[in-house]
Amino acid sequence: MIVRNPNKARCYRVSSSQGGDPYDVDLDALDGNGRCDCANFIFRMEDKVQRGAWGMMCKHIVAARKFDLLTNGRKGHPARCVNREERG
Ligand SMILES: [Zn+2]
Repeated sequence: MIVRNPNKARCYRVSSSQGGDPYDVDLDALDGNGRCDCANFIFRMEDKVQRGAWGMMCKHIVAARKFDLLTNGRKGHPARCVNREERG
């Protein structure tokens, strides 16, 4: 399931397919590449994006991007999206 953060444009909470904790995806982060807080993205992709790679997307970013296109920016249910910077 994917829910949009009502307070932040193009920010989504994506439920894990294994039923674990959901992941926060911010599609505008990293100059539009998008950022996810799952381990796969953080450990395998974020570095590369910061060094200039493009289109490094985990399945959560792909799902959020699809959802964003399908809903065309319409407001969904409330979700919290906290970037790692904001967590401190
Ligand atoms: Zn992810």
